[in-house]
Amino acid sequence: MNARAPKGTADMLPATARAWEYLTRTAQDLFARYGYEPIYTPLFEHTDVFARGIGEATDIVSKEMYTFLDRADRSLTLRPEGTASVVRAALEHTLVPQGSVAKVYYAGPMFRYERPQKGRMRQFWQIGVECLGADGPSADAEVIALLWRYYEGLGIPAENMRMLVNSMGDEACRPAYRAHVAEYIRSRGAELCEECNRRADTNPLRAFDCKKPACAEVMATAPLLRDELCDECSAHYATVREHLDLLGISYVEEPRLVRGLDYYTRTVFEVQVEVGLGSQNAIGGGGRYDRLMEEYGGPATPGLGFALGFERTLLAMEAAGVEVPAPPVAEVYVARVDDSVAAEVFALASTLRDGGVATEMDHQGRSLKAQFKQAGRLGARAVVVVGPDEMAAGEVTLRHMETKEETRVGMSELLGAVHTLIG
Ligand code: AMP
Repeated sequence: MNARAPKGTADMLPATARAWEYLTRTAQDLFARYGYEPIYTPLFEHTDVFARGIGEATDIVSKEMYTFLDRADRSLTLRPEGTASVVRAALEHTLVPQGSVAKVYYAGPMFRYERPQKGRMRQFWQIGVECLGADGPSADAEVIALLWRYYEGLGIPAENMRMLVNSMGDEACRPAYRAHVAEYIRSRGAELCEECNRRADTNPLRAFDCKKPACAEVMATAPLLRDELCDECSAHYATVREHLDLLGISYVEEPRLVRGLDYYTRTVFEVQVEVGLGSQNAIGGGGRYDRLMEEYGGPATPGLGFALGFERTLLAMEAAGVEVPAPPVAEVYVARVDDSVAAEVFALASTLRDGGVATEMDHQGRSLKAQFKQAGRLGARAVVVVGPDEMAAGEVTLRHMETKEETRVGMSELLGAVHTLIG
């Protein structure tokens, strides 16, 4: 048996799991202020949900999906991202009746068969929001601001991050632009890699994302959608930027930002960090997807959202020296002087826990000295020492770990005294 976690996956040991919970809790608090409610969708979907939504010619669908047949020969796929599933669920349950807006957020694992490296995993964790039904540009600015405020709230300094924004146009202006880029790629084919040449036929805009220096050089002078946006898209994009200015969110217009999923229309954005992540420096991003619901056979329903990666966000926090708050495992430790009071110690620990105090005790027959050491390791602020003499008097000793001060407390006053001591 191979007793190691599969390549590209990682166990979330307590310190990392605590960080994940902190990140999700922080998100819940902030997102609630922007009107978002939680949603959970299945970890796998019918393959079509992703193939149609994200696009057959994207890297995700063509190379990275975990697709399998179930026992009834249905093609299912582990979700590579959250938006497609949320939009599928919104359609299935009529979450966005015409004229209404639904705001939801999710948090959980995603799966992509990518080449693992720092900040790139095969199972990774995302937190994301989807705002469905709103087409106004203020919604775009609100979603972008929310992502930015979230990172700020985690303590990542603004100067470590860059918010890139762009407009991908819509069905009125993008098809002609795509054709121009395809034409450009063909005209410079000899200088471009094989894959970019293929992209001329399948997904020309993806050539902007090619990491090969020669391709990047050629694409640097490719036509830009910015110059070909239709009037509506141009006005929408301008208003998004005005609203970002209103909030004082600094952004960089990046006309070559295309992002890897086909469903985007109009606004797209991405937050990159300058330090600590190497090439995988995008910690979160998103955009508008006004045609996605229709792609699934539903009514025309505008939408937009973002997803942020947990692993990369944590790396960005580490690089900035931001620590995840780590509450002590135990606030109070109940220690026994000898085995004659073992049952009382057990009951007392339970009483303290019922009273709202994080409490720990020994289950391994440790000596009193070893119990004190353990209390220190767990971060306990106080130790309740239970001995036969104290017990006979209906009392225990309460020891303050920092000041080392000890007081005798009657059993009935213990909970109150502990609360006073730990604040
Ligand atoms: P995407 O869904 O590709 O727009 O990705 C949104 C965010 O998810 C990225 O900015 C990353 O932070 C994170 N992410 C995407 N793919 C991976 C991966 N393979 N491993 C770790 N994080 C990822």
